[in-house]
Amino acid sequence: QFPFGRRLPCDIYWHGVSFHDNDIFSGQVNKFPGMTEMVRKITLSRAVRTMQDLFPLEYNFYPRSWILPEEFALFVDEVRMMKDSDPGWKPTFIVKPDGGCQGDGIYLIKDPSDIRLRGSIQSRPAVVQEYICKPLLVDKLKFDIRLYVLLKSLEPLEIYIAKDGLSRFCTEPYQEPTLKNLHQVFMHLTNYSLNIHSGNFIHSDSVSTGSKRTFSSILCRLSSRGADVKKLWSDIISLVIKTIIALTPELKVYYQSDIPAGKPGPTCFQILGFDILLMKNLKPMLLEVNANPSMRIEHEQELSPGVFGNVPSPVDEEVKVAVIRDTLRLVDPQKKKRKDDHLERQQIESYRKKINVRYNYFLCYRCQAFEHVSEADEELLDTGQGDKPRYDSAESPEAGLPSLCLKQVFPKYAKQFSYLRLVDRVAALFIRFLGVKGTTKLGPTGFRTFIRNCKLSNSSFTMASVDILYIDITRRWNSMGIEHKESGMCLQAFVEAFFCLAQKKYKSLPLHEQVALLIEFCEYHLAALDEKRLVCGRG
Ligand code: ADP
Repeated sequence: QFPFGRRLPCDIYWHGVSFHDNDIFSGQVNKFPGMTEMVRKITLSRAVRTMQDLFPLEYNFYPRSWILPEEFALFVDEVRMMKDSDPGWKPTFIVKPDGGCQGDGIYLIKDPSDIRLRGSIQSRPAVVQEYICKPLLVDKLKFDIRLYVLLKSLEPLEIYIAKDGLSRFCTEPYQEPTLKNLHQVFMHLTNYSLNIHSGNFIHSDSVSTGSKRTFSSILCRLSSRGADVKKLWSDIISLVIKTIIALTPELKVYYQSDIPAGKPGPTCFQILGFDILLMKNLKPMLLEVNANPSMRIEHEQELSPGVFGNVPSPVDEEVKVAVIRDTLRLVDPQKKKRKDDHLERQQIESYRKKINVRYNYFLCYRCQAFEHVSEADEELLDTGQGDKPRYDSAESPEAGLPSLCLKQVFPKYAKQFSYLRLVDRVAALFIRFLGVKGTTKLGPTGFRTFIRNCKLSNSSFTMASVDILYIDITRRWNSMGIEHKESGMCLQAFVEAFFCLAQKKYKSLPLHEQVALLIEFCEYHLAALDEKRLVCGRG
């Protein structure tokens, strides 16, 4: 810790909240620029919606959502239309303030007219979402899953998922929402920070009981009931990869702005907390992504009447220590050989002994069923290195530790998902035309150059229409009050303009085909231009 500032460069920087240090020129930072903004409820909903527009079936793991206040009228209209077409549909909605966390300001409603738009704190921007009424219950209680995901690199994309996570339980038996029980937070919201205040909260002293358990203990229960946990894992892995694919385009824009290519700067990695709800039919649904998930391994408890203290939480420790340890191991810059002096060897030996004890304990608590999952699921979950400790005395002590939990899923399964990465390619075009590094918005000249270089204007789409398109879309996005720091066209606005151009050029095809064709068209013309410039340069 450097409370008074830091003079020497470090190998790994562990920032508490977000990427904020512009004086780092080397090493690795545990946060990506822009990640906090990207996972806010509204931004995440927008990013997922763009993907839902392109690939509705692939992205049906995120509940239908509307952004308030700007989409309030749309929300009312769409709900009315859906009710008209299916009179038996009796939905519930959940309203979540943007930027809120720990259940703060969240409430359930039965009808759009119940939204508190004005007056109180609830008037702040929010996401309203279809409420999942039939969650999977364990011991009659609703619960959600917190999974830890390591985004090790953005370019090339590298993702790891922790094999175990946490399951956080409600503290009142679940009933489907009715007007009478809508306000019962201990029944509907799984937040630990809320339920800890319930008289029914049980501090877990083992990994498979109480109000916070390991996810593996839940899988164990499900497996013993005959559930297909292998498919469940596969669905969860898809959900995580697809969500990150939705986030990467904008993250790349932030990245090039804070850490311009070609200049000295750090590389980034980040541990993300994915909150997932399982539906009764075991379909995983994404609730939200946390850029700064709590890594606490103790909890507050009343030790004697009126006396509170921090006590170790075995469940948190079991899951989180492994995540941090594996993360540090994966980003370890000291992959080179170290001096093997006597003291160091002794340290390594004692460390190994300790870790072996921990590793055996880890294996013991995992029930047979989960062992079966990881074995049967080798294809899906294994990095190819195996779970067993691999020691190489020539490497650093960390390199000799077993991989406890993080499993690579990308690029391992890249082939299956590459067709989804269209917006990434649109973002690459956007970044190319941003011009001066350090910005995140495209000016009118940059947009005109994009149109010209990609040969997108013609007699029916003149440069005057190009300017009108730019002004219309940019004005609308900037009026949504997302961020006023810079003027110009943000990536989301550019994506909208790009979709417009694609629809105009390739009428009557599905949107994702139109967009893919336009990307190819642009990439082709830009490659030709680059070649021409290269030849001219040589000449
Ligand atoms: P916060 O950041 O405030 O925790 P979340 O989006 O995680 O906000 O929502 C809080 C809790 O509300 C979740 O942990 C979950 O139990 C419940 N919840 C959120 N969205 C839904 C939904 N669409 N359907 C059912 N329950 C939900």
